[in-house]
Parts: sequence; C-alpha cells; structure tokens
Amino acid sequence: ESKSVAADRKVQTVCTYCGVGCNLEVAVKNGKVRSIEGPLDSKVNPGQLCVKGRYAFSFYDHPDRIRTPLIKKNGEFVESSWDEAYEFIASELKRIIKENGPDYIAGISSANCPNEENYLMQKFMRAVIGTNNIDNCARVCHAPTALGMQRTFGTGAATNSIEDIDHTDCILVFGANPTEAHPVTGAKIKQAAIQGKTLIVVDPRRTELARYADYHLQLKPGTNVALLNLFFYYIIKENLTDTGFIEERTEGFEEFRQHILSQNIDELVNITGVDWNLVREAAIAYASAANAMSFHGLGATENSQGTATVMLIANLAMITGNIGRKGVGVNPLRGQNNVQGAADMGCQPNQGAGYLDVTDDDVHALYEKFYRARLPRHVGYKIPEMYEAALQDQLKAMWIVGENVVQTDPNSQMVIEALRKLDLLVVQELFMTETAELATVVLPAASFLEKEGTFTNGERRVQRVNRVIDPLPGTKPDGQIITEIMQRMGYPQPDYSAQEVLEEISGIVPFFKGITWKRLGKDGLQWPVHEDGTDTPVLHEEIFKRGRGAFYKQTYKQSLELQEHNNGYPFILTTNRGLEHYNSGAMTRRTPNRELVSGDVLLINPADAGKYTIEDGDMVCVESPRGKTDIRAQISNAVKRGVLSTTFHFPDVMINNITSDVYDSDSLCPEYKVVAVRIRKSKGL
Ligand code: SF4
Repeated sequence: ESKSVAADRKVQTVCTYCGVGCNLEVAVKNGKVRSIEGPLDSKVNPGQLCVKGRYAFSFYDHPDRIRTPLIKKNGEFVESSWDEAYEFIASELKRIIKENGPDYIAGISSANCPNEENYLMQKFMRAVIGTNNIDNCARVCHAPTALGMQRTFGTGAATNSIEDIDHTDCILVFGANPTEAHPVTGAKIKQAAIQGKTLIVVDPRRTELARYADYHLQLKPGTNVALLNLFFYYIIKENLTDTGFIEERTEGFEEFRQHILSQNIDELVNITGVDWNLVREAAIAYASAANAMSFHGLGATENSQGTATVMLIANLAMITGNIGRKGVGVNPLRGQNNVQGAADMGCQPNQGAGYLDVTDDDVHALYEKFYRARLPRHVGYKIPEMYEAALQDQLKAMWIVGENVVQTDPNSQMVIEALRKLDLLVVQELFMTETAELATVVLPAASFLEKEGTFTNGERRVQRVNRVIDPLPGTKPDGQIITEIMQRMGYPQPDYSAQEVLEEISGIVPFFKGITWKRLGKDGLQWPVHEDGTDTPVLHEEIFKRGRGAFYKQTYKQSLELQEHNNGYPFILTTNRGLEHYNSGAMTRRTPNRELVSGDVLLINPADAGKYTIEDGDMVCVESPRGKTDIRAQISNAVKRGVLSTTFHFPDVMINNITSDVYDSDSLCPEYKVVAVRIRKSKGL
C-alpha cells in the first residue's frame, strides 16, 4: 500500500524542476507532504515522474528554510520583522532613485516562480522603480532560442507538443541530454527509438540517449554551426529540400543556398571532428523522413554562436518542410519549470509582458492603461550588463528573486565582486544560498508547494499551480512579498491574489487573451489561447508569426575562448546537468537525492587520464584563465580525448569559478559549453 493511499487529501499541482512541467498528485497527511505521484490521466506525464519530481520534495520543510527576514548590520545578518525589512528596503530604493536615478536599480526574476509573480516583478521594476533593468535566468540558458526563433519564425517558443513524439518518424536531439535534464521527455524519446523511429543525437558526449541513436554525431564542443552547415550541404546536394514549402512560406533561401554551397566542406568536416559520411547519412535521414522533429537544449544555446545555431536549427525545419503540423517542428527543451513563462511575462529588458517592445509608443499606451504609471522608454540591462554596471558603479541596487547567481552564472568571482559593490542587494530565497550570503536583506520566500498561480511548460502549456500546504510560518509567497513592497513604495497595487493577477495578464498579453483560471482546469491550455478558449498545440500551421519564415546564412567562427587561450589550456571543458539534482542544487541537495549523488565529478577520457596518471576517484585541479577548482575524476569513455565534462550542482566545487566570460554576441548568453582548461592531479593525493 503506498503512503499516498493513507493521505488526508491529495492536491494536483505542477513540478518545480524542469520545463517538462509534469503534473504532480501530492498526498498530504497531518499537514505534511507524504508522497508525490504522476496522475495517470495527465496529458503531460501520464503516470510518470522522474527521480526529482517524485522524491525531491522534502526541501520544503528542511530545517535550513529561512523563516524570518534578515538585514545585514555590521557584516552580520540580524533577524528583523517584515515591517522593518520593508521600511529599510523602501527607504534605500527611494534614496537611490533620488540620488542616482531608477536605472541604478535592477532586478532578476525567477523562472522557478509562477507567471503571476514574474509578471508582478517586472511590473514592480517598470511601474514602481521606473526602469527596464529586469531580466531572468533565460539569459544564461535559452535567450538564443528566444532570439533565434523570433528572427526566423517570429516567435521564440516551441512549435509543437511533447506528445508529437508519437506522431513523428525521426527525432533530432541537438545539444541536449533529456534523459537526465528532462527525464520524462527523455524516456519518451528513448521509447520512440526502441520502437524503431530514427534517432539522431548531436552531442560531444556519449550520453545514455546517444547509445539508442541511429546516428550519434560526437562533434567537438563549439562546432555546432559547422555541423549544421554540413547538414544543409548534404540535403541540398541530395535534392532533399522541400521546394514547395520554401517557395510558399519562406524568404532568403537563394542567398542561403549559395552560401552553403560556397563553404569549404572538407574544412567543416575537420572542424567538427565527425566522419563526413555519418553526417551525410544523418542529414539524409532527417530530410527524407515523412515527419521529423527536433529538440534542442543548452548544448545548442550556451555557445558563442548560440543564436546562430538556433537559427540554423529553425532553418533546417524550414528547408525540409518540417514545420506547421503534428509530429514535426522545433522544440527547445526549456530548463527551469517556468522559464517560458518568465519571458512571456516580460522579465526581460527589451520586451514587456507579451513580448511587446518597450520602446514602442503604442505599447506604452496599453501598458500605461493597466499600470497607471509612465514607463521608461529605453531598453534596460541584460544580466551580464548588470554585473558590469555594478563593477563600474553604474548600478547601486539589485533585487534577486530565487536565483543563486553566484553558483549558476559564469565567472563566479566576477559575480561576487559585482554584488559586493552594491549599496543594496535584496534576495528572496528559501535557503541561505551563496547569493543570499551577499545580500543586504534576505526575505524568506515560500516554495512551490505553498503557492498558487500558473507555470508555463516548454510546450507553451499554461497549467495551474495549486497550493498544497500553507506557507511555513514566517515565510511568504514571492508574489505577496513583491506586492507588499510595491505598496510600501506608494504604488496602489491590490493585495496579492494570483487569480486576480492572472486576469490582468490576460488583459495585456495577447496570447493569454482566452485564459481564465477556470478554463485552465486540470490539463491547462497551450498558448495562444483565443478569446473563445481554444488553444494551440501546433504553431505556424498556415503562416509564420512573422509572415514568411526567414533563412539566415551563418558562418562558423571559432570561439574567442579557444582563440585567446590556445596556449597552455589543452582541454575543452563542457558543463551540464545530472539526473538527480537541479541547477545549483539548493533544493535537491536538501532531499534524499543527495544520497544518490553527493558531489560533482569530472568525466575524463581514459587516454587523457593515463597521460596525467589520474585514476578513477582522484582529485584533479581544473584551471582556466579565470580560476581553478578541485574535483573528483571519473574516467569515462563518454567524452573524447581533449574534452572534459562536469555538472555544477555543488557549491564546494563551484565549477563556475572557472567557466568562460565569453558570450553569444546576439543574446549575451554565456558560453558554458566551451571552457579552455588545463588539469593536474591535485597535490598530496
Ligand atoms: Fe519534474 Fe521534469 Fe522530472 Fe517531470 S521530468 S518530474 S517536470 S523534473
């Protein structure tokens, strides 16, 4: 008999971890969460959950939860009342606005929080503070997806649904390891491969999924653009382009085609390090399938050519006519549970709620009707620009909601230095993370189990988050905290009600027009949701959002990281995620999942390990031009010679001390996937 059978009650809500957005059936007894299961009738995850969603929930009442506001005085945190904390923050913010101006304040919202809280956070920054300095963690993961797909299709979201895997013939997994990072989708892809559907995996690592693939293209990190250009070359040469689709629905193809044919193919093959015939066969398999769909992840985006890579993945769907119907399309595997929603809600410096341009006067007329405040007209800082501004005394205050940027953003020492320079750092958090340690004020937030609202998963499905238990004493939902500070700053924001905020969102965001709390029901709705409540499982069926889909030619460029550090740093380190833990691990490390995996390890090829006399389990010092860290080695054939791979879930390793400060120039997404490093066995071991 499962524990849940003996529960007092069961509440359906949505997982707080990855962008698959699994439904959870949470069993509660005596006010405590006892177990979590996947509802059998769920549209997203019928009966399925991964080891995170099912077991990693006990963080919610862990003794480490912060339960009272903390203000730093003389370098030490002192417990305070909410009233004192709000008063302190409000007076500091007002002082900075008066002395320096609103653009000296910036906010980072949380892709872990519901839409309503993200919406309020950007409204707070724009309507109350008066700045567009608002961003979210998509900047460090899928910003190239949003930008690349907006340029090619007109909208940056996944074109299809997870269930389309049942309707496709060929799956291209590009720079993603869904078996570990999006396990329920990963299992579905694996199952499809076992059933005989063609699977192509593009990944520098021999992941578990790669073992099920018909074609594993194990390219050198950072060479995605070269590999995709080879795909196009073979597709064009084999006459596998969908000429009807290209003529009717796209633009810019001829120039694109000529560019592809003018490339030095031998050189591209050499750059990628993959056998040309394997690439050719994979390209033919994708292009000749009746229906082919792609999934891409951070291996595509977190590169200096991240946006270019996404544009080429989108172009690959266009050149073969794999867009606008079931079983095809371009499907970014979104990282955090609500990273789609954080962007939809306007937590970015150039676009407000609904992706409306903050520099456009017509847009302001709409926003100002709802916000009853004059809004700033110029684009604000992206996250990396916030740090840069702080280092140059151009930023005095930051407000960070539920993100542990010290551990997750690249070049941690630079991030720490930037945050230390601020006059005021407010952090809303569950735990005393490495980022919260640096705060001036820490505000104790509530977890997803203690909140109401909506999350939007990677297939644009807006789903209800239902409160399972009351917020732990002393804590508040993030939306309530933001509302109360808005009120304290003198803004007439009504008391927090997620359902009322959702109503306001539906009034502003065009693709939320038909969304109501009631209509979302048990299964949610995929945006755009029309006024009559019908939703949209497949985008771009008749016409692209931008009209015609656009081809953009791209030329491979070696990363600056490798150009500048080609001497003395012979390895390329690539960072990724493990199955049992989630991002900085602040939540999963405080659950039994810690017993499954208790530290980050460095994967190293046996030949490289032999050369450096490193044995399995040895401590290895990994050093980049930014810094160094010690980490335990795991000898593995999953990586080729010259490539190293690790996760970033544990602060004792703090792998981001060494990651690159090179960014994708279009989106400012950091290049976590290509880090020039050298290694040595740690002394004394
Ligand atoms: Fe949660 Fe993702 Fe696992 Fe589903 S696959 S249970 S959403 S972590």
